[in-house]
Amino acid sequence: MLTTALTAELAPEICARRATRDDEVADLVSLLLAHADPAAGSMAEIRRVALTVAVASLGDNHLWQDLQFASRAELSALMRRWFPALVAKNHADMKWKKFLYRQLCEREQVLICKSPSCAVCTDFAVCFGPEE
Ligand code: SF4
Repeated sequence: MLTTALTAELAPEICARRATRDDEVADLVSLLLAHADPAAGSMAEIRRVALTVAVASLGDNHLWQDLQFASRAELSALMRRWFPALVAKNHADMKWKKFLYRQLCEREQVLICKSPSCAVCTDFAVCFGPEE
């Protein structure tokens, strides 16, 4: 079981998207590294996990699916180990890909959401809730 390790190979079509979306990957890696636990592993390991999560975010499925985990719970376990400061920020348990991109937008002070508040947003179910 892949809980806090990350050994999955990403699908080639996801990796191929990096050619045109590398700036996006770099932003995601930067976000993840800014919230990494330096005690979780070597810097090379932390960077590898961050890069894999960032590239997997280019996929079309739920992030845990594109990382080839069995459930969102496994992805959350990985985030707890490597990027605990992001877990602390995601206290409402937003879907991870939505959460990561929302963090990028907030950093750039860009508002892409339909609503300034999740609580009154009509897309609430898209961003939260079960990921089957
Ligand atoms: S629920 Fe609405 S406001 Fe909250 S992150 Fe999703 S789209 Fe944005």
